[in-house]
Amino acid sequence: MNWPLNPTREAAIQASHAAHSAVTNAEQEVDRAQGSGQGGDPMTETTKTTEYTADVMCTRGTDVLLIVRGDAPYEGQLALPGGFINSGETFKSAAARELQEETGVVVDPDALVLVGVYDRPDRDPRGRVVTVAYRVDLPSDTNVVATAGDDAAAVQWVPLDALLTTDADSLAFDHGEILYAAWRQQLAAGYARQVEIETSGGRCPAAHPSDPSDCAGPVAVTVVNSSGTAGLDGCEHHAARMLASLPGARVYALPDASEGAAGRTFKAASGMPPYA
Ligand SMILES: [Zn+2]
Repeated sequence: MNWPLNPTREAAIQASHAAHSAVTNAEQEVDRAQGSGQGGDPMTETTKTTEYTADVMCTRGTDVLLIVRGDAPYEGQLALPGGFINSGETFKSAAARELQEETGVVVDPDALVLVGVYDRPDRDPRGRVVTVAYRVDLPSDTNVVATAGDDAAAVQWVPLDALLTTDADSLAFDHGEILYAAWRQQLAAGYARQVEIETSGGRCPAAHPSDPSDCAGPVAVTVVNSSGTAGLDGCEHHAARMLASLPGARVYALPDASEGAAGRTFKAASGMPPYA
């Protein structure tokens, strides 16, 4: 099977909410830096002791670019490329600069998309460090020769699937959390593209190349994978075949589906052969 995995509408909505709250947090941090906000305990946490970093999730297809940290803290552990903001620098330009210094990958700062602001007080053992996280997706055919530099002892492309299911917690700082949020956002962006395909004609997104049949009606349901992190819309026929092919998957009716669409799809799946 080879479907492009796209998230559910729910994931898209969550990503949208996350982006909104991130902006709100960023605005609050700016207020605090300018002295207009009420910060935490003034004895332990002041604008003078808060430092700022920028981090980047850079993907190419389904691989993510990670560094092996060359310095403490978390020396020897995998991390997202990133680092401290220099004076006179925006978060975006710092993110692009750090990405280039540590990995050799050059991106236009304007191509970076905000993931969020990460400000848990204990997220960095060096002290109060607030980071702004970005993501950028390089085209799959981009030929990037990533080379270690600056704070990075090594650089590697790591398959996201493996990382998200097993190793994300082993990343330095809260970078596993950032990675997961960024990837969900990226899936949401992919989902939007998929909807465009759906409305431009042709077969439904759940139609697999090994089932050449036409759609058996309008796109009516969403099939979500067993972990609930990704899904595709489909007509009842193709969704049923997809459901039969993904162990533990679930099916939901879309808002404008005819009554009973999810139930019919679920029943039909039991009589469908999984895709080879
Ligand atoms: Zn179909």
